[in-house]
Amino acid sequence: MAEILDGKALSKKVKAQVKTGVEELLAKGKETHLAVVLVGDDPASAIYVKHKHKDCKECGIISHDFRLSNDTSQEELLGLIDKLNADTSIDGILVQLPLSKGLDEHQVIERIHADKDVDAFHPFNIGLLSIGMPRFAPCTPAGVMEFFEEYKIDIASKNAVVIGRSNIVGKPMAQLLSTKDATVTLCHSHTQNLAEICRGADIVVCAVGKPKIFGKDYFKEGAVVIDVGMNRDSEGKLCGDVDFEEVEPIASYITPVPGGVGPMTRAELMKNTFRASELHI
Ligand code: NAP
Repeated sequence: MAEILDGKALSKKVKAQVKTGVEELLAKGKETHLAVVLVGDDPASAIYVKHKHKDCKECGIISHDFRLSNDTSQEELLGLIDKLNADTSIDGILVQLPLSKGLDEHQVIERIHADKDVDAFHPFNIGLLSIGMPRFAPCTPAGVMEFFEEYKIDIASKNAVVIGRSNIVGKPMAQLLSTKDATVTLCHSHTQNLAEICRGADIVVCAVGKPKIFGKDYFKEGAVVIDVGMNRDSEGKLCGDVDFEEVEPIASYITPVPGGVGPMTRAELMKNTFRASELHI
């Protein structure tokens, strides 16, 4: 039976640490402000944004809500980002992704000042991460790393497999693991013999976005299993990429979905916002 990596409990702890840090800055006269920009009326994005404001409140961070209509042009959105970049009271800028059709995500990400880029998607911050000197780390992989630290799971010299190579999860996850001296294999949809590669791993991070596709055949006895996936199963229930019932009995540690990586992603955004505030003292 695996030990369950409890994202709810750990995210509370991280947010409490952020709150303490934010209060210390406030005592020195520095408030912490996050601007959250939402374009359009996508219900899922609206829920994510609502959570971000709630987390800010919990951490003593002052959040600002910017809502733009569905027909917002690229120029209008870039204009708002320029205004927020120039506003010295704003520490972090978060533009909720994905953007509506017709808007250029890459241009938007690159327009945010790197020292206000609390999502850590700006090429400059990706560069710092790739040379092993992250200033902000993308929230989801950074949240996974918190699990390893909290539960004292050894990474150095371990074989780690990351499945999925997106810019926001898989690639930075592989880099963070490598920075901590794991030997990392980054897999994707063209990888051959995926199950065999995974069975050789001490740590497997699944970030694919397909409900329960990784059953027990993908893991060796005692593997650490991190499930980043957030999917709906055939009954509409939230589930990960891993078949939890099948894998939990053979893993040493495993994250549940929900209650695993998801809450940690939210907590890491707060941590990055606090770090941004420290940069702006
Ligand atoms: P993404 O951009 O769609 O990337 C998916 C990756 O998985 C791609 O690299 C793809 O390979 C690979 N892949 C797809 N099918 C595969 C298969 N059968 N075998 C091996 N690799 C396969 O997704 P993402 O944004 O990284 O998100 C991944 C999942 O994590 C989604 O469920 C998302 O909702 C979830 N997520 C959760 C959180 C959280 O806080 N819990 C945060 C972010 C994302 P190719 O590159 O070859 O196409």
